[in-house]
Amino acid sequence: MSFPARVHDVLGVGFGPANLALAIALEEKYPSLDIRFLEARPTPDWQPGMLLDGSDIQNHPSRDLVTLRNPRSRYSFINYLYEQGRLLKHFNLPIEFPLRKEYAGYIRWAASFFSHQVDCGRYAVGIDVVENAGERVWEVSTGSGRRYLSRSVVMAPGRTPYVPTPYDAAAAESNRAFHLTKYLPRLKELTADEPPKAVAVIGGSQSAVELALDLHRQFPGTRVMTYPRSYSLRLKDTSPFSEEGYFPEFTEY
Ligand SMILES: Cc1cc2nc3c(=O)[nH]c(=O)nc-3n(C[C@H](O)[C@H](O)[C@H](O)COP(=O)(O)OP(=O)(O)OC[C@H]3O[C@@H](n4cnc5c(N)ncnc54)[C@H](O)[C@@H]3O)c2cc1C
Repeated sequence: MSFPARVHDVLGVGFGPANLALAIALEEKYPSLDIRFLEARPTPDWQPGMLLDGSDIQNHPSRDLVTLRNPRSRYSFINYLYEQGRLLKHFNLPIEFPLRKEYAGYIRWAASFFSHQVDCGRYAVGIDVVENAGERVWEVSTGSGRRYLSRSVVMAPGRTPYVPTPYDAAAAESNRAFHLTKYLPRLKELTADEPPKAVAVIGGSQSAVELALDLHRQFPGTRVMTYPRSYSLRLKDTSPFSEEGYFPEFTEY
């Protein structure tokens, strides 16, 4: 079997916010490393299926890709607004948290500086350890059969969409049952000609509520039902204790 000769220092699987933050950190701290990221999507996008009108992000915008580690970095959310010429207007908005669409724009903007390190449309399917020129290295293979060698691999594929039984069978058979990660594009396809008569939202946490409200807003005549597992929709934890997840001590713990 022949292997590609190039051995990267770091190979990242996925190029969402987690590995994008890593790309920034490596550029700022170890600029001479040979780095490559594999991203399954055609372009690096943040939650494109759920950029609902009016939806916001749920934490302080300066807990961004970089500020907690390096407040002087050029890749901060504040600098993004500044370079877009919207800093003052943004501060003047009567909202506590930025809109999700704005934050997605920030992620796209930051990712654009690293396009030379990212191979898009590459879905990693396998990982192994191989011998290459006397060195034991990781070998990551993609769905299209390409192989990458690297001294270290950082997995950041995000969460796997979960559609529970019996809806998984419906989702496999029909494009009318789908996970929220496909919400906006699939809804557009299905409602191109007329609004839906009825929609069921399965689940009881934040995304389920967002979907029910969005459907109601977009299609006021449609019957929208939510089916939470428990006896009610779940209230988000808004206590400051949950925010301690951002403290380094918590990460250590
Ligand atoms: C609708 C929604 C709203 C959210 N809002 C917030 C919020 O306001 N604040 C917050 O802190 N968190 C929020 N989250 C949580 C979210 O998980 C994080 O914001 C963030 O997206 C996590 O980044 P990530 O890089 O770990 O994962 P992701 O953003 O999921 O990125 C993972 C990337 O890896 C790629 N990938 C997956 N598998 C492979 C593979 N095998 N090969 C190659 N590429 C692969 C995917 O295509 C994707 O681009 C939200 C989540 C959702 C779904």
